[in-house]
Amino acid sequence: MSQALAAETVRVRAPGKLNLFFEVGGVQQDGYHDVASAYQAVSLYEDLWATPSDEFTVTISGTVDVSGVPADDRNLAVRAARLLAQRMGYDGAVHLDIVKHVPVAGGMGGGSADAAAALVACDVLWGAELGTVELHKLAARLGADVPFSLMGGTAVGTGRGDQLSPALAKGRFDWVVVPSDAGLSTPEVYAHLDALRSRPDIAAVPRRPDVDPAVLHALRAGDPVALAEHTRNDLQVAALSLRPELRDVLELGEGAGALAGMVSGSGPTLAFLAADPESALELQITLSAAGYEALHVHGPVAGARVIPT
Ligand code: ATP
Repeated sequence: MSQALAAETVRVRAPGKLNLFFEVGGVQQDGYHDVASAYQAVSLYEDLWATPSDEFTVTISGTVDVSGVPADDRNLAVRAARLLAQRMGYDGAVHLDIVKHVPVAGGMGGGSADAAAALVACDVLWGAELGTVELHKLAARLGADVPFSLMGGTAVGTGRGDQLSPALAKGRFDWVVVPSDAGLSTPEVYAHLDALRSRPDIAAVPRRPDVDPAVLHALRAGDPVALAEHTRNDLQVAALSLRPELRDVLELGEGAGALAGMVSGSGPTLAFLAADPESALELQITLSAAGYEALHVHGPVAGARVIPT
């Protein structure tokens, strides 16, 4: 790469997320469910390079199966770049080169991270300097999880999950993440939850969803044992009903020392909370020996950031 070209390329890294707590309320008039989520950004990142171009184009590669990711205008990162160009009245375009590490359709917000990365990269590349508040507004138009990938850290999300307030978290939390070969569609998981909730044994939330204060207390205290006692994901029952085989993996991880095992977001990625880095390593080894891909990550980490090239 020539120096001139290198200077014109902006590199951004954006994190995937785990939902430490996810309560799903009723369907709103806009078709979205009212939710309350505690998010944590974790050290599994998407890398994106933005280069000036005559057209909006995207190339996608990575350490995960990217065959399900659209390489055209449906790509959430391309939509983000177009939205920013429209917002600032910019008539140029951009080429985006995305290297994915977050499992696709895995419930870890990989597409949202790509969109957040594209917003930050194009903001710098085109000299828009929109600032956090404006970028957040654009992010919310792209998807419920996009604002959180911009923000990073640990946060509570309400509404669609996009009304964010930062949450204090002390120290670091160690997670072992187990991706699945095939993804799950988020709308399909929500629809399945709605169907299950018509059964008497799986009740809907009777009030406005809210994050359990015990979760926020455990995060503030940096206490993974207390966090494990209070994690919850309302989408888990639906994801496990669609993918019953995930129960065996959850049992294996919990039997191998995880403090808690849970479906991440809409799944099918599983997330196991470990007491410390050493326990996470042991858990990772046990799960790998049983034939599962297992990744040791930690949180909280920063949101979408420019990486100097
Ligand atoms: P979330 O947890 O935010 O609901 P997810 O992590 O389950 O999302 P993603 O990896 O974000 O799922 O992808 C969901 C779908 O979005 C994919 O199946 C794909 O068709 C589409 N998509 C559009 N753009 C992207 C992108 N840049 N990366 C991944 N998927 C994308």
